[in-house]
Amino acid sequence: MKNTETKQLFSKIFVDGTAVTNRIKYTILQWAAATVHFLLIFIFASVGVYSMVVFNIASTICYILCGILVKKERYILFYYIAFVEICLHSYIATILVGWAPGFPLYIIGIMPVIFYMHFSLDESAGLHESLLIGLCCLLTFVVCKIISYRIEPIYIISERAATYIYIFNTFCTFGLLLFFSLFFLREIQFSRYVLEEQNAKLDKIAGIDALTGLYNRRSMDKLLNNAVNSGKTFSVIMCDIDDFKKINDAYGHNSGDEVLRRISEAVMSILRDNDFVCRWGGEEILILAGATPLNGAALVAERIRTHIEEMEIMCDDCCIRCTITAGAAESTEAGSIDEIIGLADERLYCGKKSGKNKVVSE
Ligand code: GH3
Ligand code: MG
Ligand code: MG
Repeated sequence: MKNTETKQLFSKIFVDGTAVTNRIKYTILQWAAATVHFLLIFIFASVGVYSMVVFNIASTICYILCGILVKKERYILFYYIAFVEICLHSYIATILVGWAPGFPLYIIGIMPVIFYMHFSLDESAGLHESLLIGLCCLLTFVVCKIISYRIEPIYIISERAATYIYIFNTFCTFGLLLFFSLFFLREIQFSRYVLEEQNAKLDKIAGIDALTGLYNRRSMDKLLNNAVNSGKTFSVIMCDIDDFKKINDAYGHNSGDEVLRRISEAVMSILRDNDFVCRWGGEEILILAGATPLNGAALVAERIRTHIEEMEIMCDDCCIRCTITAGAAESTEAGSIDEIIGLADERLYCGKKSGKNKVVSE
């Protein structure tokens, strides 16, 4: 999904119908990190670990300043700073107060974030970088554990205080994991929605004739099958432009195309809601007149014929006039779709043979 348009869509995901932009997401993250470190100042002060108080004052200021990066949409840089800060914090806290208060838990919390960024950001790190950072997180976590085995903590804090701090750190880590899991879920749901929308658009385009904007045969086959399955009587009208070769020869192929477009527009403007029209062949148009008996279809065809006969099509300062011949048939007159269309085609042929510019329905 490197397509820029899709990426732009991904920069907004929707939670309960509300758009959440990257700016909002990472501003929340930035202030959450600043708040956690602000609270840690008091937590460390309460257990007398003043070097960590100083570290957390610096971290709080650092996260507040990261607001500038978020404003400039430098999310990856913000992540790298947070990554280094959390790793440093874990090492120093483990050396000073040991493993029990659970500061390395934050390393687990930030691991999915880089993969999330890789999935959702334009300027994101590559997959290899994400994997490398994941590996660094694992190493940092393991090294912190080894340090806690090998080195006695410099400050001895009570078991009770360590448990409370552990609970605080667990809440913050799970909060981070829940936050990004929710966004991951929404991104996936949103990407599925975008994909379905694009498929629907492609499906629509695949069923439309590019020159005239009418349905093509593929769509008409489906519509005819639906009409048969509905069990209602319907009619088909096969129209063919008279002497179209001569129009092409006299005015050129481009003008011929324009005539085809204008006639198609005219036919569409005359038809009703439950009628469908397709470009059946070169300059043949097939109309499916839904829930319409033969006499009704013949009237519609006649209306189209007279409308086209009266039209003046302007192409390259030339005024082109043309006519059509049409053959109509009703679904009850034949057994299969092919036979009904064949019958309409036969009647069209009769119309051509008997002078053109007419509708034949019997
Ligand atoms: P008739 O009255 O018997 O139908 O005569 P006609 O000249 O229309 O004959 P026919 O239907 O056999 O010829 C169709 C012509 O339509 C041949 C072809 O060059 C032209 N044609 C088919 N598709 C297109 C198209 O997309 N654009 C243009 N400009 N011409 C097309
Ligand atoms: Mg023709
Ligand atoms: Mg033809």
